Amino acid sequence: LAGRLSRPDLICTKAYVGGKWIDATDGKTFDVVNPARGDVIAQVTDLSREDVSDAITHAQAAQKDWAALAAKERSKVLRKWFDLLMENQEDLAQIMTAEQGKPLVESRGEVAYGASFLEWFGEEAKRAYGQTIPGHMADKRIQVIKQPIGVAAGITPWNFPNAMIARKVAPALAAGCAFVVRPASQTPLSALAMAKLGEEAGVPAGLFAVVPSEDASGVGKEFCENPIVRKLTFTGSTQVGRILLKQAADQVMKCSMELGGNAPFIVFDDADLDAAVEGAIACKFRNNGQTCVCANRIYVQAGVYDAFAEKLKTAVDALKVGDGLEDGTTLGPLIEPKAVEKVQEHLKDALSKGATLLTGGKPHALGGMFFEPTIVTGANKTMQVATDETFGPFAPLFKFDDEDDVIAQANDTIFGLASYFYAKDLSRVTKVAEALEYGIVGVNTGIISTEVAPFGGVKQSGLGREGSSHGMDDYMEMKYICTSV
Ligand code: ADP
Repeated sequence: LAGRLSRPDLICTKAYVGGKWIDATDGKTFDVVNPARGDVIAQVTDLSREDVSDAITHAQAAQKDWAALAAKERSKVLRKWFDLLMENQEDLAQIMTAEQGKPLVESRGEVAYGASFLEWFGEEAKRAYGQTIPGHMADKRIQVIKQPIGVAAGITPWNFPNAMIARKVAPALAAGCAFVVRPASQTPLSALAMAKLGEEAGVPAGLFAVVPSEDASGVGKEFCENPIVRKLTFTGSTQVGRILLKQAADQVMKCSMELGGNAPFIVFDDADLDAAVEGAIACKFRNNGQTCVCANRIYVQAGVYDAFAEKLKTAVDALKVGDGLEDGTTLGPLIEPKAVEKVQEHLKDALSKGATLLTGGKPHALGGMFFEPTIVTGANKTMQVATDETFGPFAPLFKFDDEDDVIAQANDTIFGLASYFYAKDLSRVTKVAEALEYGIVGVNTGIISTEVAPFGGVKQSGLGREGSSHGMDDYMEMKYICTSV
C-alpha cells in the first residue's frame, strides 16, 4: 500500500489521543485485512476501555478553549481540513479501497463527499443563530441562544470509513464540541489518516480523538457511562443502536442514531425505464450493496415488469467484479465472510419460496469475498429479504398492480430511512412522496446523499439528522434566557 501513496505517512497505525499518536497501555494491536486479497495490510493499536477514558478526559480539556473561540476561527480550521482532505484525495482513496474493498472511483467519491461536510459545517459554524422572542410581560425580555453540548462520542461502521466520521466530526467541531470516535475495526486506517490531516489543519490537541479498539462493547459502555460524554452519535445496525440507546438512558444522554434501512425502490408504469435502471444500479449496487440506503426491495408495476427486468439484467451483467484497486472494477468484494453468508441466505430463502433466478446467484469465480451480482424475479412478502436488509449485491424484483397496495407494502417495515420511486405523473409523484413513511425519498433518482440535505431516518431507522443547516442542532443545546428589566 505504502508504495502506491504520494504520502506514505498517511498510513497511521497508532491511536490519536490528546493530540499524540499512542500505543495501547498494554501494547495490544489488531490486524486490518484487505478484503479483496485477504492479506494483512496493517496492525493497528487496540486501545482498552481505560485508554478511551483518557481520550475523553483530554477531549474535555480541549473543548473549553475551542468553544470559546469565535465561530470564524473554528470555521478556518475546518476549511483548512477540507482543503487538505481534497489535496490528498487520491491517497485517502487508496487507503480506503485497501481496507474496505470498494472500487477506487467510489473511494475517491467518498473522500470528496466526506470532505464536503467539513466545508459545509465550517460555513455553518458562523450561522448558529439564536432567537429573540417578544416577552410575555412588559418587563420581560426573552432570548434563545445555542451552545455546544460538550464532549461528543461517536461509533461508526466500515461501509463508509471516511464519510460516516466526517458527517459527525464536522458539525460537532463547528458547534464547539470535542469529538472522540471509535472507527469500525475493519477500517481504522481511513479514520486515522483523516486525523493526521486534521492535526495538520490545526485542530487543537485532544479535541478530536480516534480510538481504535476491538472491544466494541467496552468502548460503547465507556461512551455511555463516562459522565464527561454528553452526546452519543452512532451509525450502524438497529440492533446495536437499541443497545446503545438503552445504555445511554442511564445518563439521559442526547443521542443521534443512523440505523438500518430496508429501502423500497418502486418503478411505476409511467416511469422512464432506462432512467429507472440506471437509478437501480446506482442505488442497489453502490458499495456492492453495502449501504444503509441501498434499495433492498424493488417493486415494479405489472405492465413494465418484464421490460424492466430484462433491462436491469443487461445492466447488471455489464458490471465488472474485481479488486477495487484495478481499473474498470465496478463491484468489489464484500467486507467479510458473514456478509457473503447473508447474501446466500437471502437468495436461498427466496428461491425456496418461489423466486426465479434471472442472473448471478453464486460466489464469484474470483473466490474469497466476491459474489456475483444477482437478480431474482417473483419476489414476495414471505421472503426474508422483504423484512431484512441484505447488505449485498442481491436484487429481488416484486411485481405489483395497484398504487395504494405498493405504498402499503413499501411502508410495511419497522424501518424508515431511504425510499425511491420512478414515475412521471405529477399527482402520483406528489401523492407517493408524501405517503412513503421514510426520512428520505428519491424521486426519479437513485442517489440522494449530499451534505446540504438532512440525512436520517424515521421509525426504527434512527433519530436525528446529519448534514444541512439542521445537522448542527444535534450537537447544540438551546438555552432560553429570561431577563426582567
Ligand atoms: P455493521 O453491520 O455495520 O457492522 P454494527 O451495528 O454491528 O453494524 O456495527 C456498527 C459499529 O458498531 C461497528 O463499529 C461495531 O464495531 C460497533 N459495535 C458493535 N456492537 C457494539 C456494541 N455492543 N457497543 C458499541 N459498539 C458496537
